[in-house]
Amino acid sequence: MIIGSATLPDGRERDVRIEDGTIAAVETGLGEPDVDATGKRLFPGAVDAHVHFREPGFPHKETWTTGSKSAAAGGVTTVVDQPNTDPATVTGAAFDEKAALARESHVDYGINGGVSPDWDPDSLFERPLFALGEVFLADSTGDMGIDADRFADAVARASEADVPVTVHAEDAELFDAGALERAGDGTGRDADADAWSAYRTAAAEAAAVERAVEVGADADADLHIAHTSTPAGIDAASEAGATCEVTPHHLFLSRDDLDGLGTFGRMNPPLRSEDRREAVYERVADGTVDVVATDHAPHTRAEKDAGIRDAPSGVPGVETMLPLLLEEARQGRLSYERVRDLVAANPAAIFGLPNKGRIEAGRDADLVLFDPDDARPVRGEELHSKCGWTPFEGRTAVFPELTLLRGEVVYDAREGERFGDADGENVRG
Ligand SMILES: [Zn+2]
Repeated sequence: MIIGSATLPDGRERDVRIEDGTIAAVETGLGEPDVDATGKRLFPGAVDAHVHFREPGFPHKETWTTGSKSAAAGGVTTVVDQPNTDPATVTGAAFDEKAALARESHVDYGINGGVSPDWDPDSLFERPLFALGEVFLADSTGDMGIDADRFADAVARASEADVPVTVHAEDAELFDAGALERAGDGTGRDADADAWSAYRTAAAEAAAVERAVEVGADADADLHIAHTSTPAGIDAASEAGATCEVTPHHLFLSRDDLDGLGTFGRMNPPLRSEDRREAVYERVADGTVDVVATDHAPHTRAEKDAGIRDAPSGVPGVETMLPLLLEEARQGRLSYERVRDLVAANPAAIFGLPNKGRIEAGRDADLVLFDPDDARPVRGEELHSKCGWTPFEGRTAVFPELTLLRGEVVYDAREGERFGDADGENVRG
């Protein structure tokens, strides 16, 4: 197959020939195209290093089928699933249970192992883990919090096994419990959502990053800090030589948006002040931040429509990440190359996926075609996640019209919407 006259992220116009699922050539004059991409842009498929597809355990929120279709429609061709499912992915048997379900995926995937008081590192490290995922140093509200000794043990074991460690960095010791107590007793989405941001303080993030990177340095481990949400947290990770990611919600939303979002805007780490959001955006634009990943964490509307103490944390995002960033590029606020680095080239390099992340001969033909001028508002009801809502309702975005996974069509919106087969593979084999 030949995609003709496509504009690449660096602005060059090239033909791309695909053979046996691989990019065979990126040149001019490759002949009659099967897909005429004149005036269109071609991107490498995005690698979302942080999703929660909820199976096993919570298929009413999302399944591998619905989550991966949502990914494909948003130009994401590789996802990395986090371990806080039921059972949690902390043993070899639990890994196998998830791996069997993941065969339903429409996009390629990695499966992160987790660490909890019940973890069984011997059986877990025998499996093709993507990374240790979202390891909490301490967490007052989650069910996977561990103490400092177990954290150090997990980081050391991962370093021995040459497996990267993704850290959820919030130090619960520095949360402001009073802020939550002072919140009103309201129920439903209009409850005092800002109390969550006051409770999980910004200071708790930088402190946890500093502790985590010290442990990582002692063990000579590859540490990746998940969903940094504050300039201080990003700087602490960057100065220590750890990589870090920012979510679209921390990039585009702040506490000012909670009036409209209510408890639908509750997530961990929480939304921050508008000043902090702007400082985070600067660090994404200038390259201090390595990765944008979604922390796609869907819950049903009924679950989210609760008081601020009871609404579960998390928002969906896998389908809107690349489209929202492409709108930033369309407006000239980020370059197309920066977007390519944040969602594809950098996560592929950091997590050891040499066949993903760039449009180069020899790499997988994971490709996303879009019209750079075709912007439209995000509508939750048009998205493919099972949850049916989005915190980005009404924001302008540029959606893909065609997504290929290893050369096969997985999503095609050129004449109505069509999904391909569920041919996703574990990227660790
Ligand atoms: Zn997460």
